[in-house]
Amino acid sequence: MGIELRGFEVYERSVREARGAKVALVKGPVGKRLYLSSPLEGFSGEEIGDGGLLCPLTPENAAALMGLFPELRPQRLPGGPSFGFGDRIGLATPGHVRALRGSRVFPVLAQQSVRENSRTGRTFAGVLSDAVFGAFQEGYTGGFAADADHLKSIDDALEAAELGYTFFTCDPSDHIPKVDRLPEREIKRRFSTHPRAGELREEYADKNFYIPGLGRIWFSETELARIVLKYSGVIDFAARMYHAIKEKLGDGFDFEVSIDETESPTSPLEHFFIVRELQKRDVEVSSLAPRFSGSLEKAVDYKGDLEVFRRDLRAHVAIARALGGYRISLHSGSDKFSLYPLFKQEAGDLFHVKTAGTSYLVALEVVAEAEPELFREIYRFSLERFAEDRATYHLSTDLSRLPDPSALGDTGLASLLSEPDPRQVLHVAYGSVLRSELGEDLRKVLLEHEEDYHARLERHLGRHLELLGVKG
Ligand code: ZN
Repeated sequence: MGIELRGFEVYERSVREARGAKVALVKGPVGKRLYLSSPLEGFSGEEIGDGGLLCPLTPENAAALMGLFPELRPQRLPGGPSFGFGDRIGLATPGHVRALRGSRVFPVLAQQSVRENSRTGRTFAGVLSDAVFGAFQEGYTGGFAADADHLKSIDDALEAAELGYTFFTCDPSDHIPKVDRLPEREIKRRFSTHPRAGELREEYADKNFYIPGLGRIWFSETELARIVLKYSGVIDFAARMYHAIKEKLGDGFDFEVSIDETESPTSPLEHFFIVRELQKRDVEVSSLAPRFSGSLEKAVDYKGDLEVFRRDLRAHVAIARALGGYRISLHSGSDKFSLYPLFKQEAGDLFHVKTAGTSYLVALEVVAEAEPELFREIYRFSLERFAEDRATYHLSTDLSRLPDPSALGDTGLASLLSEPDPRQVLHVAYGSVLRSELGEDLRKVLLEHEEDYHARLERHLGRHLELLGVKG
């Protein structure tokens, strides 16, 4: 079933047949194209001498490809653990697919947030189509989900639903009033004016709830009042988003509630209350991302007390199991090597882990080795951008500890990526870099060194999966 195409390299794993045409992904001087040996409905491209069609990798052609091979269409998560392989650049999916081999985790291959897309200049449509072509390139047929991450508006959720996304991460953090520091008296006063105060007091106040594996949890009147004031808006917003998506998609989607970017760690009582109230409004929660204690900074290991983390995780998993068995989701899950064994030991199959930043840093490793001068420029530019780009990220980077890139020999460059401070500087600038001319140069280097890039991704993310106990 071989394909010969002058001037193009054929990705052998991608070659397939459908409706009498051979279909394959190919790479030529102009970049990657989808090749069809004869035109098929829905695809558009340039006709070539052999009667075939060379199609650019657009969302329209990705949609046609999903029509041809339905296993390339995003789907709901089956039971079992799941893992998000976010990709800021759009070229990492084949490496992610390789990391998956021999694992029992279900992948999310398209996963970016509205914020990330606005930084990189990408769209939900583009992120999905890059994942579809990446999976196709590697001949992957095992199924995957697409996560519209950190949704703060219902319109954005509906846009992603329209495009075929199946996993919706609702971020209701804009709907949390600051009540943690209010005096008890004021909390009680405000609670007494809440429209559902009577009903909620009746149901929760001074009541015990037994959670197998955790024991009894108990709401004091004050704690109940504080939780109701803090999370009523969250519950309203999440329920509205859920039902808006459901009206469009029926039951074919997963819904995550993420409160990981809130100010204080999520207590077991808060978790229990939020999900129980959502369930009362017919919301099927697929996963919950609590805010954990300690510090989960992007692309470096966890900083905090592992035993406290273990205790919290155990409590969240027990509640998730008691309320129907949804997953506990770890955000900023890149490179949290000290946490994965805890998930393996405490979470059973009820976990989801999201990564993204680390695949960008793997791309920079390739650049550091193949094009040291380009890497130095990216590092210099990232340093310049740091003050601004760090704004929405939680980081403790110490700029005084950063080495001067000009002073480093070529062989020392890659080592920058294994030190926390330069690693974070390089990580948070991804949007600025990818939108600049440096981004173009970076993509070119990755295309030229694709095998190396994918082999590194396979190793690095494979290690994440091994420590989580779902591979090898
Ligand atoms: Zn998050």
